[in-house]
Amino acid sequence: MKLDIEKAIVETGDRTSIVDMQPVLGGSINQAFYVRTKEREYFAKINKTASEQFFLAEKKGLERLRNNGLMVPNPLLLKARDESEMVFLMEWIRSIPSDETGDRRLGSLVAKMHQQHSNQVGLNEPNFIGELTQLNSPSSNWVTFYRDLRLGAMQELAIAKGRISRERDRRLTQLRQRLDSIIGHKPSFSLLHGDLWGGNWLYGENGQPYLIDPAVYFGDREVDIAFTYLFGGYSKTFYEQYGADYPLEKEFEDRIPIYQLYYLLVHLILFGESYGSAVDRILQKYTL
Ligand code: ADP
Repeated sequence: MKLDIEKAIVETGDRTSIVDMQPVLGGSINQAFYVRTKEREYFAKINKTASEQFFLAEKKGLERLRNNGLMVPNPLLLKARDESEMVFLMEWIRSIPSDETGDRRLGSLVAKMHQQHSNQVGLNEPNFIGELTQLNSPSSNWVTFYRDLRLGAMQELAIAKGRISRERDRRLTQLRQRLDSIIGHKPSFSLLHGDLWGGNWLYGENGQPYLIDPAVYFGDREVDIAFTYLFGGYSKTFYEQYGADYPLEKEFEDRIPIYQLYYLLVHLILFGESYGSAVDRILQKYTL
């Protein structure tokens, strides 16, 4: 493994040797390492099971955010050793616990991301949410996109993985049929992070927040904000600044459950029935 990382580092043009390498905990999917050469510091991710598309999608997502002027770690190199092991190298961010300034800057950063618009929802290619494929076929209709490529795709996967009872399936189908009136607004299509749980940002010791591990596409920005409320990790200051920079509609709060449902279905598929009751509560709220 060290050898693979070493080879990848050489390909970035850094010919100095590794002087320190430590595992980094906290990721749910990959093995991660802090690596320091005589020249610079790196964050290295290793994946042994996923397809090459997996890191490629993350790299492209980071590049898309970066090209839109948003702070992310600089993606440096993606190297597939053979069909099964990949090394993804990026800039190491020295991070510290966030404070009020950091939270405020994060609010502005997320607002700035959401102020990048497109005339279509989706993206030109699929990417991943966790290890699950996230379909993105572009279209001009947000409700059908969310109905079919978000809720519908996860419904199918949940059936395939045996995570969905008949009753859950019935209610989910009914909810999808009613989605137009449940969503009840026509959002503009914002650049979304797509996986904005509280573990997917870092506060750099330079006072700059960074977004990491995105699953980007264009869609209703309320999806990102609804996800921040699901597991927490964001302060009042964050929401105040976000709202000052790019105010949310008053009805946003009514849509939080419907937009959290996608992430709860993803968690149900990946981690099992511990997410079942949260899914069912939302289904019961909107269906008979
Ligand atoms: P996974 O894809 O396996 O979920 P993450 O990308 O979330 O892995 O990374 C795991 C942990 O490593 C994160 O929780 C974060 O604390 C840390 N991390 C991620 N990217 C960087 C980086 N560029 N610099 C420093 N630490 C990072």
